[in-house]
Amino acid sequence: MKFNTKVIHGGQHHESATGSVNVPVFLTSTFAQKSPGIHSGYEYSRAANPTRQALEDGLASIENGARGLAFGSGLAAIDAVLKLLNPGDEVIAVDDLYGGTYRMFTRLFEKYQLKFTFVNFDDVSKIAALINEKTKLIWLETPTNPLMKLVDIKHVTDLVKGKNILVAVDNTFATPYLQRPLDLGADIVMHSATKYLGGHSDVVAGALIAKTPELGEQLHFIQFASGGILGPLDSYLVLRGIKTLSLRMQRHSENGLLIAQYLENHPAIDEVFYPGLPSHPQFELAKRQMIDNGGMVSFKFKSGKKDDAVKFLEKLKVFTLAESLGGVESLANHPATMTHASIPAEKRAELGITDDLVRLSVGIEDHQDLIADLEKALS
Ligand SMILES: *Cc1c(COP(=O)(O)O)cnc(C)c1O
Repeated sequence: MKFNTKVIHGGQHHESATGSVNVPVFLTSTFAQKSPGIHSGYEYSRAANPTRQALEDGLASIENGARGLAFGSGLAAIDAVLKLLNPGDEVIAVDDLYGGTYRMFTRLFEKYQLKFTFVNFDDVSKIAALINEKTKLIWLETPTNPLMKLVDIKHVTDLVKGKNILVAVDNTFATPYLQRPLDLGADIVMHSATKYLGGHSDVVAGALIAKTPELGEQLHFIQFASGGILGPLDSYLVLRGIKTLSLRMQRHSENGLLIAQYLENHPAIDEVFYPGLPSHPQFELAKRQMIDNGGMVSFKFKSGKKDDAVKFLEKLKVFTLAESLGGVESLANHPATMTHASIPAEKRAELGITDDLVRLSVGIEDHQDLIADLEKALS
């Protein structure tokens, strides 16, 4: 099956009792057994629920993995990956990480004796020098949030080939429509399904997709034993969102490029961060690794002033000033005070997340209305 067919049919079956075309929302915690231990395959919804199962099979299908798992949030999914590790293990992570991931690594898991090193993955030879026998996990985000830096996934997975090191990729920004990390040698794909997979800003959800059945089983054990599952109604919403993923990502990408070009030519704007612009330092890698460029665009003001960013954000009408991203509606965000406030100010400055940085999640509205809204707010 090809991708556009998979988002609709991958891992899906008509319901056997009634022929219902969509999987029913199985609002049940438990399942009747004929005799002790003799059951339909479902016992208790923390272990498995048919609606969640339909989503998990769909996730595995679209990421070309062996097993999908759906969690109550993206962070619950990341938490499950870290529980594969033991005290003393080391993790190498991208430095421009989602703020909540950084917070979990440093404030929750360091106290269990996991060691995290945050690095810029521009130069993969630097990564090679950091790897030692304690390194057990490499955590990548590409494109990164909010500076849209790319990591060459194939390069990293080649580097650790034959070593006992897992490579996990947070594929939230790209989605499997734009890039499939497991095909590039990664072991685990993670999603905040709250974003593009759900696509309608109506659910908080997370996902993991494992390349092998063995790794899938280990992660399922962790999910079952720690309990961070996604409920049936939310599972249904994410599954419904995935059906239009291809169509939405096409429009997000078209609008994203038009807006990035508009901003790049605006006299009040300094830098624009978007992998589809030839001015992006990794434009060539973007063309090689991604099918298109998506809807996330960040930019800085020529003045460098926080005040300009704040005034601009207050004036937007079609774009909503809000955290999150990846929904059908356009959102605008001020990383320094909103999504990335959990990163210490010195660290933010070091990374380039300055106070005049604005991040847009470009939706699927008509681009003329979006650009008119930006134009007004900028003037
Ligand atoms: C939102 C987000 C997360 C966290 O997911 P939640 O669903 O909010 O828990 C992780 N990574 C990225 C890139 C995100 O955008």
